[in-house]
Amino acid sequence: MNILILGGGGREHALAWAIRQNPKCDRLIVAPGNAGIAGLADCADLDVLSRAEVLDFVQDNAIDFVVVGPEAPLAAGVSDALRAAGILVFGPSQAAAQLEASKTFTKEICDACAAPTAAWARFTDGPAARDHVTATGAPIVVKADGLAAGKGVTVAMTLAEAHAAIDAIFDGEFGKMSVVIEEFMEGEEASFFILSDGTTCLPIGTAQDHKRVGEGDSGPNTGGMGAYSPAPVLTPALQDQVMARIVRPTIAEMARRGMPFQGVLYAGLMIQGGQARLVEYNVRFGDPECQALMMRLGAQILDLLLACAEERLAEAQVVWADDHALTVVMAAKGYPGAYDKGSRIAGLQDLPETSFQMTFHAGTAGSDGAIVATGGRVLGCTGRGTTLAEAHQRAYALVDAIDWPEGFCRRDIGWRAL
Ligand code: ATP
Repeated sequence: MNILILGGGGREHALAWAIRQNPKCDRLIVAPGNAGIAGLADCADLDVLSRAEVLDFVQDNAIDFVVVGPEAPLAAGVSDALRAAGILVFGPSQAAAQLEASKTFTKEICDACAAPTAAWARFTDGPAARDHVTATGAPIVVKADGLAAGKGVTVAMTLAEAHAAIDAIFDGEFGKMSVVIEEFMEGEEASFFILSDGTTCLPIGTAQDHKRVGEGDSGPNTGGMGAYSPAPVLTPALQDQVMARIVRPTIAEMARRGMPFQGVLYAGLMIQGGQARLVEYNVRFGDPECQALMMRLGAQILDLLLACAEERLAEAQVVWADDHALTVVMAAKGYPGAYDKGSRIAGLQDLPETSFQMTFHAGTAGSDGAIVATGGRVLGCTGRGTTLAEAHQRAYALVDAIDWPEGFCRRDIGWRAL
């Protein structure tokens, strides 16, 4: 079959790498792709947020199956447009994508199905939000909802911080905003990935990531500096608990509301004392977590994504190897602040590309026969092994073989589990 993947980051390179290995895959196109993806698929220059452009491309190129990588095309309704035209697509509808786009929506779903999560309240004006925070006390979490979602979370350790965060949201240039104030949850964070075809749910792996830029999990937040799978904190018993109390009730509630969730549900969890609570949902694979997951799942991911899109997940099964994978992100110096683009990366062509070691590209382009950095997070060096230590050693062996003076990485990815 002919397959189109939308996106051009490390997540999409990992998906393309795994899908390409499945004999069902004839032609593989990734839009827009990147220099690494170009080594195993055709790359197409396409506005992935334009429903019309994507649909035309799919029809012109006889595409049988579309896999949507990032959130933005989902929020733009690209999957709805494809489904309406009878195209098989992996990715939730615009309505179901609210589980990521709207914090209020997710909290309401949790309340409706009694899924454990932080206590919360929503405010549309600053003074009421400030009064609530003053009455509740710190630590407390302040989240912007609406148009600025994604960049607007403050975990406030003091009342002053919480008040300042509320003021910033209501004085900001975002227009009409609302704020969700949440109880602060203590514990260890982990990610759980579940496929759903609208009714049936199938867990496909766990992971933990490192959000902070600095070693020892210090410094500013980033999109993620590394990840590993599985997450030891998410024991099989805890996974069963999360499926029973959080994931299945959510999927049932979404179906009840007439917006069945079809795609990958990425549950961000807070774990303490053998209990898990939901922090947030995302409606696509996490990056870099996806790189570690794809290393472990390999070619079968295409069968799983197809079963999901064809609503026959009840027949599907994951074949597990007793393995571990770990991804180290190499980023441009300065990231997550200002960084230069266009620096040359050497040594990539000599790296092994096997089911134990892969260097996934996140922000690269080809330029005069060389590969140059085009983003903040640029490469994901991923190792797989029978132990996490082996996966770690294989990932850092890739890092050490890359000659890129303008880049950096954290040397302690996986420290908590190692
Ligand atoms: P992301 O980039 O993870 O998608 P986001 O902007 O959608 O972030 P959340 O995931 O809701 O926001 O919050 C970001 C981070 O803030 C979480 O990963 C977690 O570390 C912390 N956090 C959020 N809510 C809470 C809470 N109630 N208690 C403690 N920490 C929290």
